Amino acid sequence: MDIQLDIYSPVQKIQHQLFTEKGIEVFIKRDDMIHPIISGNKWRKLKYVLQDARLANKQHLVTFGGAFSNHLLATAAAAAKFGFKSTGFVRGEEVQNDTLFLCRLHGMHLIFVDRDSYRNKPALFERYFSHDGDAYFIDEGGASTLAAKGCSELVIELPQRYDHIFCACGTGTTAAGIINGLVGHELETEFNAIPVFKNGDFMRADIDKYLINSAIYTLHTDYHFGGYGKTTQQLIDFIKQFVDGTGILIEPVYTAKMLYAIYDLARKDHFTPGSSILAIHSGGIWGLLGMKGKF
Ligand SMILES: *Cc1c(COP(=O)(O)O)cnc(C)c1O
Repeated sequence: MDIQLDIYSPVQKIQHQLFTEKGIEVFIKRDDMIHPIISGNKWRKLKYVLQDARLANKQHLVTFGGAFSNHLLATAAAAAKFGFKSTGFVRGEEVQNDTLFLCRLHGMHLIFVDRDSYRNKPALFERYFSHDGDAYFIDEGGASTLAAKGCSELVIELPQRYDHIFCACGTGTTAAGIINGLVGHELETEFNAIPVFKNGDFMRADIDKYLINSAIYTLHTDYHFGGYGKTTQQLIDFIKQFVDGTGILIEPVYTAKMLYAIYDLARKDHFTPGSSILAIHSGGIWGLLGMKGKF
């Protein structure tokens, strides 16, 4: 079976009085619509990795993530769809949650490992699967050069030129891929990366690692809302207003922080009137389930 999905990721305009007042146009690229579970950047990141596994005749995907990892879930669903076995190493003590339930539903075997052992992923892979000739290693968050290559293809789908593109960053692979795409097509769009971690300046090194040519881009490090997986009432209120106002689901770990940044920067007159801004909806909406107690 070919490892391929037909990409459906329309660009939609976000209507808001704030944007009208400031004379800017804001659009959102709906990568969340690519697949209900292998959604957003996760399909783009997995595409060439899975093709590589298939080419190497490996039938068993082995990967790593936290208990709420969208990457684990996307890998489980992609494995099920394309006929692989899958194992996920989960950081920390054994827990049950909606993400892990969906992983198991797609046939992923879960192995919980303490935080110390989790740090050395190649050693874990070696310890458990050195005798499994079918096992194929996929790093935490799916970060790799092949993943960045998959993400760079987003750029060829863009229906127009934008002054700004905004994207949330975890490993920085998606950001790097899109920047590579922009540079490769000589587009003069300013790329804006929103790290979802505290002290996100380190993200620059993580992004640069996957850049084909060095590039100038902007890192906005003030939109972490307390750190990875952390949220505030302000962010929750923003999510409610955004979902209510647009009918587009977003989640608190990545996409809400990135979109909040756009609204906040617009309020602060960061954008020249006449600017066009594209937000990348990188998917992950099942992450909402981990926060349902807070709504
Ligand atoms: C995984 C994920 C990201 C982060 O992608 P990276 O390539 O690791 O930076 C962003 N948004 C969503 C919704 C994700 O699930």
